[in-house]
Amino acid sequence: MLTDPRITARELGIELQGLPQLRHLEEQLAAFIADLERDPVDESDEDHAARAYVRLLAEAGLLRWVVPGAHGGAAPQLRSVALCVIRQWLARSSGALDTAFVMQGLGGNPIAVAGSPELQARLLPKIARGEAICAFALTEPGAGSDLQSIATLATPRPDGGVTLRGEKCFISNAGVADSIVVFAREAPRPGEGTEADADAGARPRFGAFWLPGDAPGLSVVRTKVIAPHPIGRLLFDDVVVPAGHRLGAPGDGLKLALGNLDVFRVSVGAAALGLADRALRESIAHLQRRVQFGRPLAEQQGLLFQLADVATDHLASQLLVYRAAAARDEGRAEPDQPAMAKLHATESAQRTIDRAVQIFGGLGVTVGQVPERLYREIRALRIYEGTSEVQKLIIARRLLRG
Ligand SMILES: Cc1cc2nc3c(=O)[nH]c(=O)nc-3n(C[C@H](O)[C@H](O)[C@H](O)COP(=O)(O)OP(=O)(O)OC[C@H]3O[C@@H](n4cnc5c(N)ncnc54)[C@H](O)[C@@H]3O)c2cc1C
Repeated sequence: MLTDPRITARELGIELQGLPQLRHLEEQLAAFIADLERDPVDESDEDHAARAYVRLLAEAGLLRWVVPGAHGGAAPQLRSVALCVIRQWLARSSGALDTAFVMQGLGGNPIAVAGSPELQARLLPKIARGEAICAFALTEPGAGSDLQSIATLATPRPDGGVTLRGEKCFISNAGVADSIVVFAREAPRPGEGTEADADAGARPRFGAFWLPGDAPGLSVVRTKVIAPHPIGRLLFDDVVVPAGHRLGAPGDGLKLALGNLDVFRVSVGAAALGLADRALRESIAHLQRRVQFGRPLAEQQGLLFQLADVATDHLASQLLVYRAAAARDEGRAEPDQPAMAKLHATESAQRTIDRAVQIFGGLGVTVGQVPERLYREIRALRIYEGTSEVQKLIIARRLLRG
């Protein structure tokens, strides 16, 4: 049954061999969500909720899935199917819970991929234990879809480090993060040319850097979005970054950022599946419960047709998401697969949730009702980690390349 909470990858026949823990993951998630629903976290204070969720996820061992085995992780490398199963389950319960989970991965993985051995040994176990909350700072006021326009400047220092100056916006966990990965434009080193050369068309180079959340010169201005989500602007006023806190080689920053988004993009689709699962379940219950014109709404053929449409859309999304995740785990990922998975899953989840609101009638827009919450929670998934339009560009360019 499509809305059975135990159905994710296994229902779809995804190969889970070689990773015995994954077989128990869904049972573990079911118990975790049941406990949480008995004793829910108050999400009215976003910072408190973010910290509480990270602590609970760590206690349950779930954050071990976002770091490599050598640093306390559950598997030798990140497993996309596992990330998707976890996000689908968490999003059924709460969008803020899902965000708390994924930010540990999105902000931790660049350290696992490109941090120095010292930085990895210091930070990754803390990330898995929930002792360091993570942020990933890429977007800027002038650089959203167009990342080549990143203007935050990393100016070299004589000691080999850099000084950061600029601004990031829409950064999840701004103000709660202990560990921040920042991407910035590299100012030329002495003898490498001038900024005027860069203005005259030389290709910009970008670097990646790690900062503690309390770095001197860093300040935070919070932003309010439509669903509970700790998010805001980061302002860098000559923040000093020592040489050992650089991630990867100078000039490799954007490659690192895009590679990271590529790993996590398909899991955004899985989070959308979780929200849509919940909407479908709520819709079915309401159609069976609500009586109008002397019979349950479930006896109105027009509504049944709508239900069938969204359920079909939903299963197509599941197939795309877990196919893309399995392909990544098996080392045969193509860039258009996660793009299609994210595009279809987030757009179809939006339609499924909108349909749930309509099926609930006035109750659907009543604050505190589940469809109303889902309606606010789904919206940002079509925007972050590459908008739907950006996913379409990835898919179409791949087709044109043949
Ligand atoms: C809740 C939330 C959390 C976020 N968390 C983070 C985070 O933790 N870290 C981080 O770095 N960023 C984060 N972001 C930022 C997010 O990644 C950006 O909002 C996103 O990449 C889009 O950038 P933008 O908002 O500047 O939109 P723009 O790039 O200005 O796009 C505006 C519109 O134009 C369309 N568009 C742009 N270019 C094209 C084109 N070439 N062809 C067709 N259409 C186009 C877009 O699809 C969009 O519809 C978050 C955003 C949200 C809403």
